[in-house]
Amino acid sequence: MIELSRVSKSFGRVRAVDNVSFKIKKGEIVGFLGPNGAGKTTTMRLIMGILKPDKGKIKVFGYDPLEDRVDIARRVGYLPENNPLYPELKVKEYLKFICEVKKAKGFERIAKEVGLEEKLDEKIENLSRGFKQRVGLAAALVGNPKALVLDEPTSGLDPIEQEKIRELIVRLSKDRIIIFSTHILSEVEAVAERLIIINGGKIVYDGQKPKRKGTVESLFKKAVLQ
Ligand code: ATP
Repeated sequence: MIELSRVSKSFGRVRAVDNVSFKIKKGEIVGFLGPNGAGKTTTMRLIMGILKPDKGKIKVFGYDPLEDRVDIARRVGYLPENNPLYPELKVKEYLKFICEVKKAKGFERIAKEVGLEEKLDEKIENLSRGFKQRVGLAAALVGNPKALVLDEPTSGLDPIEQEKIRELIVRLSKDRIIIFSTHILSEVEAVAERLIIINGGKIVYDGQKPKRKGTVESLFKKAVLQ
């Protein structure tokens, strides 16, 4: 379970996250939506213990992200926005390195799971954007985490590659919590079960995805413009 209660975080005068509360339970796939600068990345970084909240409490599988960062890193795979990788390394070298850091094994199996088995000997800098994103996903999967926090996993990818990454996310969601941010509303429609919409640091919608197709856009506009 990932639980935020009354969490706030400011940068100077900007309230990036403002009194945010939600609980995400095992098996939930949550689409995290919001306009640019709404607070999505900040919320994710708070969950991962990269940032310290000014106020409020965060529990991730019972751990405090700030005090137990190693425990969180083992249980929650994180794909940051812009997916920072080591371009000069080969895929294999990078994944081995992540395995060492997380004290885990089995990078070959993970590479296969995300469709990277043919690319293990290639340098990361020579990969297409879609494959680079798969490397980031593979790194997040090392250690078989119980949750994945994915910050705009399909951003900048072509529609075919977006579709493949979406399918992958759905496959990876079995028995895992997944929280992913996106600006692509049809993606939420295709992948998520629950939507959380944030605007100006505040949660403006939290609920199940509407059953009728094509309604996420109107729900989003209504929540953000209210
Ligand atoms: P986007 O969709 O553009 O990625 P976002 O919803 O992820 O946006 P955040 O990156 O969380 O939004 O930013 C929320 C607010 O906090 C913005 O006003 C942003 O400029 C500000 N902010 C985020 N990180 C920092 C930082 N390290 N220092 C100063 N301001 C920051």
